[in-house]
Amino acid sequence: MINTAPSAENVVQPEVASSYDVVVAGGGPAGASTAALIAEKGHSVLLLERSHVPRFHVGESLIPETYHVLERLGLIDALKASAFPRKYSVQFVTDTGKESAPFYFDEHNPHPSSQTWQVERGPFDKMLVDRARELGTVVRTDAKLLDVVSTGEGAETSVRGVKVKLGDEPAREIGCRVFVDATGQTAFLARRLNMLHKDERLQKGTIWTYWKGAHRDPGERDEGCTIILQTEGKRSWFWYIPLADDVVSVGCTGSMQDMFGPGFESAEATYQRELARCPGLRRRLENAERVEDYFTTKDFSYRVDEGAGDGWVLVGDALGFIDPVYSSGVHLALASGEFAADAVHDALSADDTSRERLGTWIPEYFRGKERFHQLVYAFYTPGFSFANFLREHPEHKGHLVDVLVGNVFDHPGVDRMFEDMGELTPPSDLAAAVV
Ligand SMILES: Cc1cc2nc3c(=O)[nH]c(=O)nc-3n(C[C@H](O)[C@H](O)[C@H](O)COP(=O)(O)OP(=O)(O)OC[C@H]3O[C@@H](n4cnc5c(N)ncnc54)[C@H](O)[C@@H]3O)c2cc1C
Repeated sequence: MINTAPSAENVVQPEVASSYDVVVAGGGPAGASTAALIAEKGHSVLLLERSHVPRFHVGESLIPETYHVLERLGLIDALKASAFPRKYSVQFVTDTGKESAPFYFDEHNPHPSSQTWQVERGPFDKMLVDRARELGTVVRTDAKLLDVVSTGEGAETSVRGVKVKLGDEPAREIGCRVFVDATGQTAFLARRLNMLHKDERLQKGTIWTYWKGAHRDPGERDEGCTIILQTEGKRSWFWYIPLADDVVSVGCTGSMQDMFGPGFESAEATYQRELARCPGLRRRLENAERVEDYFTTKDFSYRVDEGAGDGWVLVGDALGFIDPVYSSGVHLALASGEFAADAVHDALSADDTSRERLGTWIPEYFRGKERFHQLVYAFYTPGFSFANFLREHPEHKGHLVDVLVGNVFDHPGVDRMFEDMGELTPPSDLAAAVV
């Protein structure tokens, strides 16, 4: 069963000193991986998480390229030994119910990374935080970042510490040479410095819940497949992510207007309305029982202008979020965590925590992230069909799979595919409502 209640962990909270080389705010995949890899190099690191560990979180499907950071963190054996279902492929079902053959990742790249996992995020993120702790990070939960201690304005802001609330203690300041913002969609610093812009072409809302006893394709290779199913008229789409204990995460994403606009009655009513429009999914849920309440999240796609400044770095969702359709979030969180950790280590070693030094990785990271963005735009562009595109351009099948598995960094080859796709213009939310 999914544990959705925040559970107070059974550990004694550590003493917190007055300053650290690095303070990381946020104990998700981005914060935990950044903290772990900096601590491993011998720097003092404090990780602040406002909630508990483990905590419930959406975002359960990993993509193959997460493998490399997880390997560097030493977590592959633990994942292999876990009960998380193995994921070998992704499958798409059109609005008319036509099922694509699954894209098996190992047919594209016969490497151990081509098998990945469907993870319940509470225990998965805890594995990462525990690893950060093992490598020397001081992990403080029930610890809320209130503010940064800084001079300057906007992207010119220079950070020298943080103001935090640790449990019931009075708020206090903690000094640092580098502050890492890994606060997820809170995007603490990006909002504070007015650097966050909503993507008006991706104004979507999601409703999701968990089912038990749903139909799964049989066999080790297919039972863990992520399925993306479009609803009739392509007004929305569902994810179908098989988890351990016969539980399946099933979420529906559509325009804000359609999901939560005028006429909205309840999350259940909207979810059931969209389910009725999705024959492929109805069949899979025929004998299933819903085992959790409905959860909602709204208007979650945005870009952030700057990834680093004097004494600060942003990672994961705090540095931008793309729509969930291609499950890119945890991969981008881990990848940015790794890039940032290497840059922070380099900056601390050189005693130069300037924006130039901390931000060396940002341009290539933004280029890679933009490649996911383009694929998401293609998905939502009316009239665009991946099947038709690949019939016309079979030479791009490998490029498409490259982006699906997360091979987006240092890979300009895939940009030729986007050039051949032509203009990708998903309608803004308002337009989508009248299509
Ligand atoms: C509907 C939906 C479906 C998704 N599905 C997938 C999927 O299938 N696969 C996938 O890879 N990704 C998916 N994602 C994206 C994924 O959930 C995120 O990209 C990922 O969790 C980002 O990791 P992170 O570490 O940046 O942030 P988070 O995991 O959000 O962690 C941020 C942490 O910061 C803490 N925090 C926030 N503010 C403060 C503060 N002031 N002080 C201290 N701590 C703070 C929070 O409590 C949280 O624990 C989905 C996202 C959405 C919206």
